[in-house]
Amino acid sequence: ESLVDKTCKEDYALHPEQELRFEVEKGEYAKIQVLEGNAELFGTELIKQKPYFFNGGKGYGIFTWSSCKVRITGKTESAYISKDTPMVQYLNVSFAIEGLRKKAEEREDQVDNQGNPLDARGPRVMVVGGTDVGKTTLCRLLLNYGVRLGRRPVFIDLDVGQQSIGIPGSIGALMVERPADPVEGFDMKAPIVYHYGHTTPNANFKLYSALITRIQDLYNNKCHYNQKVHHSGCVINTCGWVNRKGYDTLLETAKTFEADVVLCLDAERLYQDLVRDLPDFVNIMLLKKSPGVLTRSKEQRREAREALIREYYDGPRGQFFPHSFDVPFDNIDIFKIGTPSLPNSALPIGTTMGDTETKLMSVAPSTDIMNHILAVSRAETVEEELTETNVSGFVVVKAVDEERRVMTVKSPAPHPLIGRYMLLSTLRYMD
Ligand code: ATP
Ligand code: MN
Repeated sequence: ESLVDKTCKEDYALHPEQELRFEVEKGEYAKIQVLEGNAELFGTELIKQKPYFFNGGKGYGIFTWSSCKVRITGKTESAYISKDTPMVQYLNVSFAIEGLRKKAEEREDQVDNQGNPLDARGPRVMVVGGTDVGKTTLCRLLLNYGVRLGRRPVFIDLDVGQQSIGIPGSIGALMVERPADPVEGFDMKAPIVYHYGHTTPNANFKLYSALITRIQDLYNNKCHYNQKVHHSGCVINTCGWVNRKGYDTLLETAKTFEADVVLCLDAERLYQDLVRDLPDFVNIMLLKKSPGVLTRSKEQRREAREALIREYYDGPRGQFFPHSFDVPFDNIDIFKIGTPSLPNSALPIGTTMGDTETKLMSVAPSTDIMNHILAVSRAETVEEELTETNVSGFVVVKAVDEERRVMTVKSPAPHPLIGRYMLLSTLRYMD
């Protein structure tokens, strides 16, 4: 409350199907209150009169199906009301997905004429498109509409650059049980996160595809034990890299997950290619992009990544208190996944280059890893497939004392992350 500039205050009246768009200045907060009517933010209903404090550096679009009055207190950039939104189209997509869930539910406990049980699998929806088309926002909207209909969809975020479940450089999955909090996003109490270590699939295709296979196994398993999850299906977010190898990666992802629905945002060419290359049973739809989506430069993208990491440690409202502690070298083993490529002649007899991309390489703690992110593995022995075991979280190396053989790491609150095995990320973070 004290961070909001109270000298700036404005009320906005929205008519049916209009959207109030604004950005909050970087480092600032703005207070949003719905005074009258019904409004939602990316599919989450806003509670009337309740003050929401939105932080800077992001774009917001408050939409109403009926009408509403919204008050913004605090400094915003370019606040305006628009009636040009793709929301009707998105709502129709959401209804279509719900229809598939209903069909899945009806198939439960039914058998075909040979007496074999019918597959009660819910829709697996994949969202694809270039950068800055609103992929992450569309996923959030579809998941929110799904839970509001009483479903339990799983969110799988495969975008290693702008990751929204883990931190950049990782991929994650999350069962969605309630709509995203307007400020804090989805409840992150029980996500499953895997370390990848780079911001593009390009850096290690073999590892990326191994992790995709792993995460889909896990999802299938979850469906096996939870009927509700099985019917509800999943929403898969993907990377904005859609050319050449990026495109091949999308095809591979669709195949691995056996995607039923592919939503292609604002990319006619990509859409045509997918129609040509994906099997006939896949329902591919070309969707409009919202004019409200912010476009980010390369530099802003890097900043956005940093902001995602900062949020992981400090909380979306700066409410967490991350702490630092010392870890003796003897208590940990650090590994890097993938060895540098060697010419074939330099490889030991009987090995091939292919193996090196997912090979674990021991890393001695030194000042070389200063400020690097380390993923703390849940593996308890090195025999467990370290590369494909999920992680409990991420620490940052803040200091390395080679003489005393200890390093200082920053850990997210409230519990320090403990684990013997750590995986080195190429990403660094300085606060
Ligand atoms: P990336 O390529 O980085 O993954 P993306 O395609 O996932 O981007 P989003 O992250 O969904 O795009 O959107 C980019 C930014 O635009 C975000 O800050 C988001 O909050 C904002 N945004 C999305 N839709 C709207 C809207 N309708 N009104 C205002 N801001 C919006
Ligand atoms: Mn995104």
